[in-house]
Amino acid sequence: MSKVHVFNAGPCLLPQEVYDKAVEAIKDFAGTGVSVLSISHRTKEWDAIMDETRALWKELLHIPEDYEVIFLGGGASLEFLYVPMNFLEHKAGYLDTGVWAHKALKEAQGLGEASAVACSADKNYSYIPKGYEIPSDLDYFHITTNNTIYGTEIKEDMDCPVPLIADMSSDIMSRPVDVSKYAMIYGGAQKNVGPAGVAFCIIKKDALGKVSRYIPTMLDYRVHIDKLSMFNTPPVFSIYIMHETLKWIKSMGGVEAVHKLDVQKADALYSEIDRNPLFVGTAAKEDRSIMNVCFVMAPGYENLQDEFLAFAKAHKIIGIKGHRSVGGFRASIYNACTLEDVQALVDCMKEFETMHA
Ligand SMILES: *Cc1c(COP(=O)(O)O)cnc(C)c1O
Repeated sequence: MSKVHVFNAGPCLLPQEVYDKAVEAIKDFAGTGVSVLSISHRTKEWDAIMDETRALWKELLHIPEDYEVIFLGGGASLEFLYVPMNFLEHKAGYLDTGVWAHKALKEAQGLGEASAVACSADKNYSYIPKGYEIPSDLDYFHITTNNTIYGTEIKEDMDCPVPLIADMSSDIMSRPVDVSKYAMIYGGAQKNVGPAGVAFCIIKKDALGKVSRYIPTMLDYRVHIDKLSMFNTPPVFSIYIMHETLKWIKSMGGVEAVHKLDVQKADALYSEIDRNPLFVGTAAKEDRSIMNVCFVMAPGYENLQDEFLAFAKAHKIIGIKGHRSVGGFRASIYNACTLEDVQALVDCMKEFETMHA
């Protein structure tokens, strides 16, 4: 099979080594003679995987001592509910930078007072709002660091006068993060650190326990921290694949090394978008994401959109159709996507130019 270049937004491409490990573990997990799909999660072999997975998170992101890492089912979308359940007492503020941010805000509004502190809906979320003031009486301020659908990204860890909570579903492990600036960081694994089926949460322990509401057992972060993410049966296979993906990131030289490659890939693709007269980027230049690159046909060439998709597909480039709310194209270039994959797309855009410009 000749190589297919996969630019899916999520579930995403994972490294070949990880696929190979998955196949192996399905047949025989850690030399136990039992499949990873069938082992008990109450065994020392599984405990070792949980311990190592937590340790890898802490090591790769230099997570300070007073934080805990937990793994939960339900995806990032259930975290939208967990967050206000565990942190909202009086009032919360959200930065409304797109569909995911908006959905997170909606869950908080179902539980109490929450509103958008700033919003970029006026230009279809093509930029990150700036110059807004975060009220100092909020229980927390929630941001979405990478807006997967629009290709915008908050690339710096902001100073915040109140506890800062971030959905980092689609840019986790793509850049070094100063975890100490956040009360909590969470996301679904399937954008950059594993398969669908598990969410990660990095939580500052003393930020919890400040709300007076009744928190249902399964929605209480403290329960999952106390039980080391095994209050009930964890998503064993998804966690196993996340473990292997984190090991791969470490083998690549860690987040700092991976970040350099990610920037290189993004630069290569944005340069071509800016150079090629057939295409134009949709995100504000200063806010361009290094994970999701969004672009459309340039004015005058709009009628070529379907033809370019078909042309790309014939060149084994798949997953570049833009989200329906933006249109055009989106290339998701997460960690496992290589510079060769990006180069294949760039070459394809160049060839298409010679046919039409
Ligand atoms: C994909 C995505 C989500 C939703 O994740 P699920 O695990 O499908 O619930 C939330 N936030 C961001 C930024 C995403 O990219």
